[in-house]
Amino acid sequence: MGWWLARTLAALLVVVAGTLVGAFIGGLFGHPIPAMVLGSVVATVLLVLRDSRRGQGLMDWLRGPQSTKAPSDSGFWGELAYRTERELRTRDLKIKAESQRLDQFLSAIEASPNGVMLLDANDQIDWCNTVAAEHFGIDRNRDRLQRVTNLVRMPAFVAHLQSGRYDEPVVFSGPLGRTMLSVLIRPYSEGMKLVLSYDITERERTEAMRRDFVANVSHEIRTPLTVLAGFVETMARLPLTEAENRRVLALMQQQTDRMQTLVGDLLTLAKLEGSPRPASDRWLSILPVLQQAQVDARALSTGRHTIEMEGGDDAEIAGSETELFSAVANLLNNAVRYTPEGGRIQLRWRWRADSGAELDVTDSGIGIAREHLPRLTERFYRVDGSRSRDTGGTGLGLSIVKHVAQRHGGEIEIHSELGKGSTFRIVFPSQRVRHKREAAALVGS
Ligand code: ADP
Repeated sequence: MGWWLARTLAALLVVVAGTLVGAFIGGLFGHPIPAMVLGSVVATVLLVLRDSRRGQGLMDWLRGPQSTKAPSDSGFWGELAYRTERELRTRDLKIKAESQRLDQFLSAIEASPNGVMLLDANDQIDWCNTVAAEHFGIDRNRDRLQRVTNLVRMPAFVAHLQSGRYDEPVVFSGPLGRTMLSVLIRPYSEGMKLVLSYDITERERTEAMRRDFVANVSHEIRTPLTVLAGFVETMARLPLTEAENRRVLALMQQQTDRMQTLVGDLLTLAKLEGSPRPASDRWLSILPVLQQAQVDARALSTGRHTIEMEGGDDAEIAGSETELFSAVANLLNNAVRYTPEGGRIQLRWRWRADSGAELDVTDSGIGIAREHLPRLTERFYRVDGSRSRDTGGTGLGLSIVKHVAQRHGGEIEIHSELGKGSTFRIVFPSQRVRHKREAAALVGS
């Protein structure tokens, strides 16, 4: 039975009861008919009053924040209150769950390493994550609902946004000119736009370095190749005397040597960059490495310099013998090449107070002006290109030294004064060096 029938019957019963009570009381006083009418009217009014009061209770609760329970009642109003409350609570839970999902979704976008910005149909900023705010130089709270083109003035971006053609990303430099951004726009819904920004500064830098490197290598190889080609042509075209032939062949040999050294250094660099760091538990004596490098340097100097060595007798280092030899040999080689005849070159191993050690190559040579020092370890950087090439330099020596130092946990320091000489120092950390005595004690214990 539905509520309408039950309520109708109940109302009828009350009205009938009121009429009967009216008829009974009216009968006692001899006016049954008017008393019957009065009885039914009173019963109806009472019924309406009671119903209105119960309905009002529910209405008051609905008008409020519904923080308390719905008014408890029985019958029709009770069920209405119960069902309304249940529906509201279910909706609340759903809204809460939806808003939690939205929060999680926004947190996920916030955690993205790339910039994400949502624009409405008028290109006003609807939402953006912190990365996008940084990329475009905007304040994500203050600038909400601002037209993006009023805030982001980078012409390439504005032109791209207004072009309406978004197949390709657009690349431009960031607001302070220190970063390079790649921005991709994706339209969605009705006129809305998703703007994705990527910081490609590092990628661009690496790409520029790669281009420079390839250009440098090509240039370095092309020069001796051109010279060689010239000689080959000369030999093919002109009848040369025996003496001339020997001289040309000697010059050709010089150029092939130069190319061989360059390729050798390039391979060394490639190996250093592409292989894992030398093991930190493979200990070797540094003395034989220093001694061999000194012997080679003396051979290169052919008696034009005094080359001395100091320290290192009791030292062990964890690392690669080949790499360390290559680093020391490069430093000594430079010292010989950049020190005029009669100069002094010192190779020195010294312990440091922090239990690390330093390996110095000091010369009394031509020295280097201060402004060149920060760039010396860059590949192919030379202070004086022709002097470097004339003495067999490739421009890669110090770059190799720096890599070797870093792969052994160390770093390179350069002190130099123009006309007075230079000191190139590799500083090794305590974890990579030890005294032989310590080693013996470790074995004994
Ligand atoms: P290179 O093969 O040209 O010597 P390096 O990478 O070994 O290349 O050195 C880079 C540059 O640093 C050299 O071209 C030279 O100008 C400078 N340089 C290196 N060592 C010395 C030194 N001992 N004295 C003076 N200048 C040096």
